[in-house]
Amino acid sequence: MIGQVRQWLGAARHGAGLTGAGMSAESGVPTFRDGQTGLWAKFDPQQLATEEAFRANPAMVWDWYAFRREMVARVEPNAGHRALAAFAQRHPQRLTLITQNVDGLHQRAGSVGVLALHGNISEDKWLDAPNACCNPSLALPGSPPCCKGCGNMRRPAVVWFGEALPLQTLADAEAAAQECDLMLVVGTSGLVYPAAGLARIARGKVAIINPEPTELDSAADAVLRGKAAQLLPQLLED
Ligand SMILES: [Zn+2]
Repeated sequence: MIGQVRQWLGAARHGAGLTGAGMSAESGVPTFRDGQTGLWAKFDPQQLATEEAFRANPAMVWDWYAFRREMVARVEPNAGHRALAAFAQRHPQRLTLITQNVDGLHQRAGSVGVLALHGNISEDKWLDAPNACCNPSLALPGSPPCCKGCGNMRRPAVVWFGEALPLQTLADAEAAAQECDLMLVVGTSGLVYPAAGLARIARGKVAIINPEPTELDSAADAVLRGKAAQLLPQLLED
C-alpha cells in the first residue's frame, strides 16, 4: 500500500498534507484534557479557551496559556514533521501543509507557509481591533501585556471555542484541497469540521496515515495504519 501512495506522490504536481492532533501526540504534546496537570487539573479547558473566559479573567487565562506554551516548548518535532519539511525543501511548491495543530512543530521542523487553521499558540494578537496607539512591541508587559494608550490586551493567536477559523487561511486550505492530486491526511480522527471537510473536497487521491481507524477511512483511496514518525519518512524520501 505504501508503494502505491509513493507512486501517486511521485506523479502528483500538487500535494497537500492535512495534519491533526495525533501528529503532535507522537512528539509528546499532551492533548487538551491530558495536559491539565498541577494547578490546572481542576479547570475544564473548554471553559478557559473562550473569549468570554478571557474577558472575565484575563490574567488566569493568560497564565494558563503560558503554562501550555511551556509544555509545547519542551517537546521536539518528530521524524514525521521533519520528513514533511524536508520534502517541501527538496520539492518547492509541491506540498501545501495544512494543520489543525497550534503547537508550531511543523514550523520548528522547517516547514514554511504552513496553513495553521487553529492559529499558533506561540503568537499573540490584539483582543480588540487595534487603535493607532496599539503597537505590539510597545505593549506593557504583564499577564496579559496591554497597550498603554488604550488598555487593549494581547491574547494568544489561537482559535477559541465559538470563534470562526481565520477566513484567508481556510480559503487557502480549500483552494489547496481542490487543486491537489494527492492529499495525505495524518493523525486526525476526521471528526473535526471544517478541517475534516477538506479531505472530502480533495480533488485527487486521499491517503490516510493513522494508527487507528478514522471517520475518513471509508472515503479514502488508501489507508496506511501506523505512526506518522515511522510512515512519513518512508513515504516522502526520494
Ligand atoms: Zn492602543
